[in-house]
Amino acid sequence: MDVFEQWLNLSWEKNAKERKLLTNEKRAACICMACPSYNLRARENNELLYCIAGKSLLCISKDMGCTCRNCPVTTDLGLRYHDFCINGGEAAQRYEHEIHI
Ligand code: SF4
Ligand code: SF4
Repeated sequence: MDVFEQWLNLSWEKNAKERKLLTNEKRAACICMACPSYNLRARENNELLYCIAGKSLLCISKDMGCTCRNCPVTTDLGLRYHDFCINGGEAAQRYEHEIHI
């Protein structure tokens, strides 16, 4: 099990309040706001941390570049993917690209 899977498991073992604290820690480190793809609508809807939360809900649809690779969360959680706001969260992209059934 890698770092991301361990973190996901850990977060699901917590109660809702503890899980929110754990997630807020990562949210505070998210650098999406510095990304050229991030827009006003996403900001107004308080969207961040797409790697965990999943795709942007009707806010970001155009890829103008992605700064995820420079984000501390990528290093902390050992994320393999990027462009999470458009392509889906880390778990979803892993499932799409790595699970063959
Ligand atoms: S990896 Fe990308 S989506 Fe995840 S916290 Fe960092 S900037 Fe935000
Ligand atoms: S997930 Fe990547 S492309 Fe989307 S806003 Fe965050 S840094 Fe930009």
